[in-house]
Amino acid sequence: MTQKVFLQTFGCQMNLADSDEMFNHLRARGAQKAQTPEEADIILVNTCTVREHAEHRAVSFLGRLAKWKKERPGRIIIFAGCAAQRLGNQLKKEFPFLDIVAGAKSMDTFSALLDKSGLFPPAQEVLPPQTEGLTGYVTIMRGCDFRCTYCIVPYVRGGVKCLPHEQILQEAAQKAAQGAKEIMLLGQTVNAYRDGDVSFADLLNRVSQVPGVERVRFMSPHPAYITPDFLAAVRDNPKIAKHIHLPIQSGSTAVLQAMKRGYTREILLEKLAALKACGMTVSTDIIVGFPTETEQDFQDTLTLVDEARFFAAYCFKYSPRQGTPAAQMELLPEQTLEERLDILLNKVRDLSARAYTAQVGTHQQVLMETENKGRTSNNFWVKTTKNYKIGSVVPVEITRADGTLLFAKE
Ligand code: SF4
Repeated sequence: MTQKVFLQTFGCQMNLADSDEMFNHLRARGAQKAQTPEEADIILVNTCTVREHAEHRAVSFLGRLAKWKKERPGRIIIFAGCAAQRLGNQLKKEFPFLDIVAGAKSMDTFSALLDKSGLFPPAQEVLPPQTEGLTGYVTIMRGCDFRCTYCIVPYVRGGVKCLPHEQILQEAAQKAAQGAKEIMLLGQTVNAYRDGDVSFADLLNRVSQVPGVERVRFMSPHPAYITPDFLAAVRDNPKIAKHIHLPIQSGSTAVLQAMKRGYTREILLEKLAALKACGMTVSTDIIVGFPTETEQDFQDTLTLVDEARFFAAYCFKYSPRQGTPAAQMELLPEQTLEERLDILLNKVRDLSARAYTAQVGTHQQVLMETENKGRTSNNFWVKTTKNYKIGSVVPVEITRADGTLLFAKE
């Protein structure tokens, strides 16, 4: 009988891509996707541990599966990803009904882990991963060689491991053949990619030449790898999206050093100016209230945000993650964090509105994601007056901005 798998993914886009990859190994063993846990024979929980809250959610989801398993004891539970890596076999003691723990570092050996469990039929040929929708997600590297003092990722995902470029190009071609028009390259520090002579810039150019690919995006880059060859590729290749989500975390050199981010405010400003000169819009992530952040440090972040004119920013109050060096530091008062977050959010909202308004009167190519809505290369959402085929690229003139939506005439 065909086994049905329900995928429950917590966390980032990389986790979604990893869930697809793990599902593919189950598919090679004859399994199909289930739409609900009730109809499933297997539940694959892919977890996140970046924030304590995310880990708690995943573990309490696992706790609730006791009843699901009791209903039919032959059912199988796989707990995978970052929280699985961090908590390891201690989970099996706490949740004896759990069948397989597959930590984030065991993606390469996931297939062998399934075989070892003896719970599945032998694998047939591993089929190309299935793509649903316009964007094909392709993981190009895993892990991180940085050690930012607030971040748990390197401890659970390990150091950088880049996938062979031939494998990446093949996967991009398979996704394009299944209808993906946009390829999103994924990695923890995606632009640190290197495979022999092939740099990240080379890879972007090569993926853009895959038949059927209209646009290439990537996530998440690190400021240290905004290199001249990357900037040249972005400037010269119209298929590389003119948008980058570049987490900066702070605008103060002192805080960046305490975070061990590997760059200063001055370097950051240079890189941001270079990106802008290539026509890129930039969005970012910022942490407010890191334990060493003084009022002056916070003001430095505000002035950098002003100068950079980010078109969007995800702003977070610092929260300690157990197991990281920063978790030992004394916290700032909660009220300070809240006040600073409020000030920053107001500024970001204002800048975002200005960025959208500045698009009015420009001519753009919109990749349609629904019949009447799509995104520009700069990552602005645009509503068209007529309906178009999903996946087509429509030249438009932007006539109006309303909040975070642009309106166009074609
Ligand atoms: S670059 Fe820093 S924040 Fe990003 S994954 Fe690596 S350690 Fe974490």
